[in-house]
Amino acid sequence: MTNSALAKEQTAGENGQSGQIKVVGVGKRFGPFQALSDVNLEIASGEKLVICGPSGSGKSTLIRCMNGIESHDAGTIVVNGVPLDKVKANRDQIRREVGMVFQSFNLFPHMSVLENCLLAPMSVKGMSRQDAKEVAMHFLSRVRIAEQALKYPSQLSGGQQQRVAIARAMCMKPKILLLDEPTSALDPEMVKEVLDTMVGLAQGGMTMVCVTHEMGFAREVADRVIFMDRGSIVEEAPPEEFFGNPRTPRAQDFLAQIL
Ligand code: ADP
Ligand code: MG
Repeated sequence: MTNSALAKEQTAGENGQSGQIKVVGVGKRFGPFQALSDVNLEIASGEKLVICGPSGSGKSTLIRCMNGIESHDAGTIVVNGVPLDKVKANRDQIRREVGMVFQSFNLFPHMSVLENCLLAPMSVKGMSRQDAKEVAMHFLSRVRIAEQALKYPSQLSGGQQQRVAIARAMCMKPKILLLDEPTSALDPEMVKEVLDTMVGLAQGGMTMVCVTHEMGFAREVADRVIFMDRGSIVEEAPPEEFFGNPRTPRAQDFLAQIL
C-alpha cells in the first residue's frame, strides 16, 4: 500500500509494549454473581491466544474487560502499556488500538458495507474520507468482499457479514484484535470462509485473542490455549498439548463434549 496516511498509522505510537496485554488479579461481579475471579494473564506482543471453556465460564466477560467495554472491579489490566482505569483518555486510547469482532457481527444495518468501514476511522481517528476509503477498500479486498462494498448488511450472508466485521475492525489498524466466538452464529458452510480469513490475518504481527472452540483453527494458529471454567483460568498450554492431553478433569470433560 502506498498511501502515506496508512504508513503513518502503522508507525504511530509504536513502543516496546505495543500489542501487549497484562491482566493481574482481575475480578468482575454482576451483582452478587462473581463472573471473573483472580484472573492473571500476560499476552505477548504478536501472540495468538485462543480462549475456550463452557458457556457461562466468563470468556466474553474477560475479553470485553480487555478493551473496556466491560469494566473490571478488582485487579489491573494494562493494554499497550496503558492502564485500563477510570481515566477517559486512557480508555479512549485503548479503544482506538484494540479491535473487536462479535459473535453477532454488530454491523450498522442502515449503513452500507463501505460506510460501516469508514465510520470509526473518520470519526475516531479523524481520517479524511478519501484516506479512510482507501484503507477500507484494502481490507475489504483482503476479506474478498470489495465488490459488495455498496451493499447493506442484510443483503449479505452471515459469513460475508462477519468478514465485513473483521475488515471493519482492521480499518482501525488495531495492534490487538479480540474476537468473541466469531464463527459460532454462522451456518456450518460459512464457518470455513471466516476461519480462513482469520488464519490470513494471524500471519501478520498483530496480537490476536480469540474465543473459539474451533480446534482446527486453534491448532493451526494459536501459540497458547487458555481454558476457563467458572470465572477462572483453569489450564493453559500450547494447542497440541491442551487438545491432545488436557490435564484437569474439567478440561477433559469439556473436550469430550465438543469433540
Ligand atoms: P461465556 O462467554 O464464557 O459464555 P460470559 O462471560 O458471557 O460467559 O458470562 C459469564 C457469566 O456472567 C454468566 O453466568 C453470565 O450469565 C454472567 N453475565 C455476563 N454478562 C452479564 C450481565 N451483563 N449481567 C449479569 N450477568 C452477566
Ligand atoms: Mg461468550
